[in-house]
Amino acid sequence: MTTLYERALRVFPPVASRATKLGIVRAEGCWVYDENGKAYLDFASGVAVTNTGHNHPAVVQRAAEQMRQMIHVGHNVFYYEPYVQLAERLVEVTGGDTKVYFSNSGAEANEGAVKLVQYVTGRPEVIAFAHSFHGRTLGSLALTGSNAAYRRMYETALRRVYFARYPKPAPGEDPEEAVRASLESINDLFELQVSPDRVAAIIVEPVQGEGGYVIPPRSFLEKLRGICDEHGILLIFDEVQTGFGRTGHLFAYQTFGVKPDILTLGKAIASGFPLSAVIARQDLMDRWPAGAHGGTFGGNPVSCAAGLATLDLLEGGLIDNARAMGNYLVAQLRESLAEFQEVYDVRGVGLMVAVEFRDPGSGAELSDMVKEILARCEQGGLILLSCGPGKTVVRFMPPLIVDKKDIDQAVQVFRDSVAAAVRSVN
Ligand code: PMP
Repeated sequence: MTTLYERALRVFPPVASRATKLGIVRAEGCWVYDENGKAYLDFASGVAVTNTGHNHPAVVQRAAEQMRQMIHVGHNVFYYEPYVQLAERLVEVTGGDTKVYFSNSGAEANEGAVKLVQYVTGRPEVIAFAHSFHGRTLGSLALTGSNAAYRRMYETALRRVYFARYPKPAPGEDPEEAVRASLESINDLFELQVSPDRVAAIIVEPVQGEGGYVIPPRSFLEKLRGICDEHGILLIFDEVQTGFGRTGHLFAYQTFGVKPDILTLGKAIASGFPLSAVIARQDLMDRWPAGAHGGTFGGNPVSCAAGLATLDLLEGGLIDNARAMGNYLVAQLRESLAEFQEVYDVRGVGLMVAVEFRDPGSGAELSDMVKEILARCEQGGLILLSCGPGKTVVRFMPPLIVDKKDIDQAVQVFRDSVAAAVRSVN
């Protein structure tokens, strides 16, 4: 039998290659099933998309009902119920003083946010962070500091983006030292490269996702807020990966207690249907006139209906579960990996959990070992992804419906895979 992978090789360019060679035919809850009927625990969640679990019956029902009623009419042409209703709910859960603009992808939301800040401030420049990930379209790519290879070959659409340091304290290091170094890098930019009165916005992930599941010290976002307020710079939180319950609150800005001026959302917002949003302070949105931005599919009725079902589920207990299961997962990983010196750090916030590997002697990155661990996990029926500049961080982002039984199974497979990979290297 020709596998999906073999067929794909003939019809896709290498740029469409993926982390595994698996062909998947069905998904349900925390599980996906391959062409041979083998089941895998999906701790990648379609890359942090299926926070409510694959094919949650409530999402399926709401989307199916909407599909029978109306698939698409165009938000450029008409208003319709799920589009307005989801925006109403998002305004409500972001404090009531915001407005919403829908698009299709995280990249589009970030570009929309940059267009908004340039429009309302009249300033052209943006500050982003090293190892950030904000998307791969020519505009959002310009904001992406993660792995310069993403950007290297392209003439990006935004030329005036500057990169500051993101605080990543080493285990045991004083976290405030990392914050200080990060803020100093912003000051250096102001002194040497760009006057703050030309900066429209600072865009930041409250927890860096693709950059390595880097959880900044609590004071970082607060101090960033202070710098923005001092210079009339707008603060954008890219919550495409951290949003919708992932960090143990609906949004990571609640986890960290610092409110941005603009929030960008995507991925998990509609449990797998394409949808993203820019949510910004009302007074900013009110200065963004008709015609200044737009798109054909944004706010599609089926996606919005799925988004409404997603919000109901998250508020109905999944966020609490994310917090409880996140703590449990970190504790289980710490305990079961304690014997391996190659494990440099186990960290997590909600169900954004990471294990970082380094050589215990030299501190060198162990990317080959991480590759082997992931391959062994896949054989053992567990799907995980790596992240970080050297791909030396394994990230755990199961659906937020995950329970202790699934976590125990995943931790067991992971521990066995680490043990085997360590043995095969030594
Ligand atoms: N922002 C962040 C923080 C992301 O993690 C991603 C995707 N990994 C994006 C933006 C881009 O989203 P999309 O792939 O939907 O364009």
